[in-house]
Amino acid sequence: MAGEIIDGKAFAAQLREKVGVLAADFAAKAGRKAGLAVVLVGDDPASQVYVGSKGKATLAANMASFEHRLPESTSEGELLALVARLNADSTVDGILVQLPLPAHIDEQAVIAAIDPNKDVDGFHVTNAGRLAVGQSGFVPCTPLGCMMLLTDRLGDLSGLNAVVIGRSNIVGKPMAQLLLDANATVTIAHSRTKDLAEVVRRADILVAAVGRAEMVRADWIKPGATVIDVGINRLAPEPGANKGRLVGDVAFGEAREVAGAITPVPGGVGPMTIAVLLRNTLVAAHRNAGIALSE
Ligand code: NDP
Repeated sequence: MAGEIIDGKAFAAQLREKVGVLAADFAAKAGRKAGLAVVLVGDDPASQVYVGSKGKATLAANMASFEHRLPESTSEGELLALVARLNADSTVDGILVQLPLPAHIDEQAVIAAIDPNKDVDGFHVTNAGRLAVGQSGFVPCTPLGCMMLLTDRLGDLSGLNAVVIGRSNIVGKPMAQLLLDANATVTIAHSRTKDLAEVVRRADILVAAVGRAEMVRADWIKPGATVIDVGINRLAPEPGANKGRLVGDVAFGEAREVAGAITPVPGGVGPMTIAVLLRNTLVAAHRNAGIALSE
């Protein structure tokens, strides 16, 4: 029997709705809306689309959206000055600087300049450190979204073997940390891992965050495993089409025959990222205003 499809789109829609209700409640109590500032430098087409969707989702969730679209020629100093203004602005609860930044700007310097208590992306070293030592802070949206899908399906993850492929600061590492906190036995695989297929075969939970189209094959997957596919890869267009299909890091069709449950691409992890961003902003707003959040 084919594995269940984990409907991230539906889960994310529910989360957004819940956040919207809590955000309206926040506005009534605080006398202002929770606010998210999104900063985009340059005109990368994919980033333009992401920023547009974030703005719309923020407004739909009863929050204030502050968009700052700056030209490609913006200097690092100008961007740092904007971040400083947003840090000092009490109507801004969350700050997100859309990556990648143009090559002449040091991304790490910009992330380091964001007030960690407004760092709703969870990329600041203070938040990475908080996650590493088990203190509450902001956790990057994509891995936190994956974790929500996993706990919704599996409940207690204690003692399960989890394999994360990928060790980036924004997905792989925080994902592994969250799984460890949930008492899974965690293996992190990467480009230097030997016998990757063999490592993956031990996984009750597999999280693939690589960026290689359909790399994980059905015969790598333990029967009944829960598979979370973070990868977003665009294939070359079919003859006559102007755009190729989007696929994940897992060969979905064949993997589904073996897995117990699997996220599709698109419609799995992707929609969770914005929903969790809104949730993180809601949490930031409550902390900043000193209002308790009953989740
Ligand atoms: P990075 O490129 O930063 O990291 C990729 C990781 O995969 C690295 O750790 C790399 O290893 C590892 N890797 C590369 N090739 C192999 C291989 N052949 N075998 C095993 N491991 C390999 O990517 P991100 O973490 O930023 O993103 C991963 C994927 O997730 C991308 O497709 C991205 O588009 C997608 N993504 C989706 C999001 C969403 O759904 N909202 C959000 C963020 C990302 P090494 O460290 O050794 O180089």
